[in-house]
Amino acid sequence: MHVLITGGAGFIGSHLAEFHLRRGDKVHVVDDLSTGQRENISKLIEHPDFIFDEADILVWDEFEQAISWADRIYHMAAVVGLFRVLSDPISVLATNISGCERLLRFLHKSHWNTKLIIASSSEVYGNHPGNVALNEKMDLYVSPDMNTRWNYSLSKLADEALGISYARQYGMDITIVRFFNVVGPNQTGKYGMVVPRFVRQAVEGDPITIFGDGKQVRAFMDVRDTVEILDRLCTSPKSKGEVVNVGNVGEITIESLANLVKKEAKSDSPITFTPYHEAYGDNFDEIYHRKADLSKLNSLI
Ligand code: NAD
Repeated sequence: MHVLITGGAGFIGSHLAEFHLRRGDKVHVVDDLSTGQRENISKLIEHPDFIFDEADILVWDEFEQAISWADRIYHMAAVVGLFRVLSDPISVLATNISGCERLLRFLHKSHWNTKLIIASSSEVYGNHPGNVALNEKMDLYVSPDMNTRWNYSLSKLADEALGISYARQYGMDITIVRFFNVVGPNQTGKYGMVVPRFVRQAVEGDPITIFGDGKQVRAFMDVRDTVEILDRLCTSPKSKGEVVNVGNVGEITIESLANLVKKEAKSDSPITFTPYHEAYGDNFDEIYHRKADLSKLNSLI
């Protein structure tokens, strides 16, 4: 099988690339290395079935050709991470929406039996009221003050709308996955991801900095499970044209997470609390509870 991975030098993309090479597939990765890292794919570069192009999918000349070569496409390329979303709100919209739209346009011109997975995010649920597990039938919330913090969520929602529209209008085989918090090797803490940031701070003996009061609840999933789930979704005929949560059920507060990392790293780092406005600037909206209802995922795979 021929597999194209946009953003394949990033965290989840690099695990997908390894998974498919191990299985004997041919893998083509395109990544502009904006948040992805060459080290994530350095072990794969010499593999005879691996191709890497350092390119921006917004302007990449060979995108159409790469799409028509593929039997399966994972669209992972996006501007991600709260630090980047807050510092560069325009490129979040431009890259995330235009990149996805360009991909869909080329895919529609080539053959339509290619399976496409589009990465969306639990961020689209916004600040859903109440402490409930989020399911795909729920309304999605956007803050009334249109803080640019929501640009990421809006861009992912636009990608979902694009994907659903191409699937419905042309019968293309597209599945949209709303990732909750994925963690594992190759993830960087540079752009705001909490687990690698805490781990680095604990290992280097720096203060482990909790943003806010630490009572925020998250459920983290191992990237190896993510990869396996995406593969199963691709082979499930029922997943065609669907939007589905991909996450885990085990919940933890951010304060407990900091304590867990400190214990596992046998670290003497103090745990400190930084107010949101110092970490992210004024008008920051936090999402307090984020946990997934996984019934739909379970029914599909
Ligand atoms: P990542 O930053 O490691 O991966 C994204 C990759 O896309 C990077 O390698 C980056 O260099 C590349 N990229 C960005 N713009 C590009 C462009 N114009 N052209 C080519 N490549 C480009 O992040 P990740 O955690 O692996 O996320 C993968 C996908 O999953 C993203 O779409 C993200 O929004 C989504 N997601 C991830 C999580 C999570 O917990 N990791 C949660 C929700 C959604």
